[in-house]
Amino acid sequence: MKAVKITFCTALILMAVTGAVFAGPNAEGIAKIQKAGVLKVGVKSDVPKFGLLNTDTNQYEGMEIELAGLIAKEILGDAKKVAFTPVTAKTRGPLLDNGDVDLVIATFTITEERKLTYNFSSSYYTDAVGLLVKKASGFTGLKDMDGKTIGVAQSATSRAAIQQAADDLGVTVSFMEFATYPEIKAALDSGRVDVFSVDKSILNGYLDNECEILPDAFSPQEYGVTSKLSNKELAAYIDGLIQKWLNDGVIAGLIKKYDL
Ligand code: GLU
Repeated sequence: MKAVKITFCTALILMAVTGAVFAGPNAEGIAKIQKAGVLKVGVKSDVPKFGLLNTDTNQYEGMEIELAGLIAKEILGDAKKVAFTPVTAKTRGPLLDNGDVDLVIATFTITEERKLTYNFSSSYYTDAVGLLVKKASGFTGLKDMDGKTIGVAQSATSRAAIQQAADDLGVTVSFMEFATYPEIKAALDSGRVDVFSVDKSILNGYLDNECEILPDAFSPQEYGVTSKLSNKELAAYIDGLIQKWLNDGVIAGLIKKYDL
């Protein structure tokens, strides 16, 4: 009986000890990033002023790149300890799920549906869905696009936003979905689609002399810093930072710096 008691007590102690270990710095959390010595962040490589890979310098630039550096400074004491991975609307979620990146800071719109699958910080910027057309098309807005085909990216909010706006206007449009933005731009150039639609910030990366972004703006797009759903410790920490930087003017300073 005594032996059993000891074993039971030992088991309790063991449970307490292992519990304490697991309840400590989360295996996925900040301690893991500190151990790795680098913050892995998924960013856009084709969005001017947000996340753009400058092909002359081979360096990433933009507000979202600076935010990643500021977060690395907090966690690792050095804004340069960031490893950037280029992402698209389609790849950014799986990259978080696989643990290939710790965070995604990549024009990722906060939606109620997405909050079921990822953690989002408070919003650091609000954009809107826009329309890029050939100047020669003569379109002035969505109201002129009855019967036209809109090119949108898979896994983006654009299709639902434009469908809603078209319904409100009583205009019928169809959609063609693509995996990447360069493919949509090529389809616009070749006439396979009549319009390229996504957030205005992203359309800016595909402007050229033949094209223009129309004044129409639909469905506010609030961007948040995203983390894996199970990684609550990191999510709470990041949200604390974003809220601090919203309050103390750091984010307003970045918006001003990049003329957003
Ligand atoms: N911001 C929108 C979204 O999250 C557009 C897609 C993108 O960010 O590439 O769906």
